[in-house]
Amino acid sequence: MAISREKNSIRLKITLWFSLILLFISFFTLASVFYISRTVMQKTVKDALIRMVENNYDEVEYYEEISQGELDRNDDQYLQYQNGYIEIDDDFITKMNGISAGVYYSDGKLFVGSDPNPDLLEKVPFSDGQVQTSREDGINWYIYDRSLAGQKLDGLWLRGAVSEQQGQAQMSSTMKMSMILLPVLVIFAIVGGYIFAGRLLRPINEINETAMEIGQGRDLSKRIDLGPGNDELHQLAGNFNDMMDRLEKSFDAEKQFSSDVSHELRTPISVIRAECEYILEQDRDKEEYIEALETIERQEHHMSRMVEDLLMFSRLERGTDIYPMEDMDLSGLVESVCVDMALLQVKGIRLDWSCQEQIHIKGSRSLIIRMLTNLISNAYRYGRDHGWIHVRLYRDKDRGDQTVLQVEDNGIGIAPEENEKIFHRFYQVDSSRTGSGTGLGLSMVQEICRYHGADISLSSQPGEGSSFYIIFFQ
Ligand code: ADP
Repeated sequence: MAISREKNSIRLKITLWFSLILLFISFFTLASVFYISRTVMQKTVKDALIRMVENNYDEVEYYEEISQGELDRNDDQYLQYQNGYIEIDDDFITKMNGISAGVYYSDGKLFVGSDPNPDLLEKVPFSDGQVQTSREDGINWYIYDRSLAGQKLDGLWLRGAVSEQQGQAQMSSTMKMSMILLPVLVIFAIVGGYIFAGRLLRPINEINETAMEIGQGRDLSKRIDLGPGNDELHQLAGNFNDMMDRLEKSFDAEKQFSSDVSHELRTPISVIRAECEYILEQDRDKEEYIEALETIERQEHHMSRMVEDLLMFSRLERGTDIYPMEDMDLSGLVESVCVDMALLQVKGIRLDWSCQEQIHIKGSRSLIIRMLTNLISNAYRYGRDHGWIHVRLYRDKDRGDQTVLQVEDNGIGIAPEENEKIFHRFYQVDSSRTGSGTGLGLSMVQEICRYHGADISLSSQPGEGSSFYIIFFQ
């Protein structure tokens, strides 16, 4: 429930933000359209007004005298003014596209032509060659005057006037269209956005549900299936699935490990119990007691080593504060371990070594000793009578001067199919041959390698011997 509410709220949030931005953009667009068309409209109307008045200017002339014949012949209008005549050419336009023009007395009264708003125009003083704006009832009027003094008509003015409403009529149709179309588009976009957001969030819901199922049911095998795709959500699901793979593996390994531990400990415990029961059953002679105690001591040794190894594993997992890494002379260390291990007189096996001088690495002395001891102990344990063990430490030119530690023997060898398994915890190829082995030695070596950022590899021939290589990448 919580998850689905959360999902819906994200969907709502996305839609809300998206709608707000969209509304802002449409409002801004509408305002811009309105402003621009109004400015364009005003300029167009004013230009048309000026053009018309200027055209008319040349169509007005004053004559002091004029013959009757001229008066009869001509289509032009002749009006008596003072001692002469004003000729109004027939090209004089009095009304066009809402613009009115006329000749006015200087007191604002119309002499001839068309006056669209006598009350207003009478109040506006004349101004030569200037567009004036006058407002009445919320409507702007544009007025343009030319003095006719230049045409010997002192006291007369040419005036043109137009109201803004004229231009607004054309503009408002564009505005009306935008006012209807834009909100419709915005509503479509918001609904579309809401549906789209829901679709986008569906994979997240899927991820949430799977995570919840895993959390509640502890079923680590569940995976998210978003179908084909490679967007961020598919990548997230992929990463989640990879993480679950690793988690499931380590969980299984952990399960396997604890069951192996209890299984491995059960054997020595059973032996100890059986031995105790047998010895306590009745009175025994001294040899029997000693034999029983020796068996118990052997099992105790075995268990102690196992517990010690397990402790070491968990310490290794905890990190560098328990086994600090320090600069050390690996050559000297390998040599001293070999000197000590060569003292063991096992099956007449000869241990020799060759160490390149002055090889230094960053590592933990105690862990490196443990690693080498384990490898040499195995080489003794699985070596043939009067065989040999070679330990080598060198910088390998072919491997970019990396440090290689090699432990080679001519013992029983390892079958290729066992190559990987021998590094698993508690794995023993043939437990009857391992004697005191716990099956933890090589996995410990591998863990120490991992701790040092080193690699371990094996080359072996059954019946001929084995060679373990540890490559330090430093
Ligand atoms: P164990 O305590 O059994 O020796 P390890 O983890 O050290 O456990 O080794 C795992 C198995 O690998 C051994 O049981 C053995 O069969 C095999 N093995 C390890 N080292 C060698 C070697 N040098 N030669 C042959 N087999 C080996």
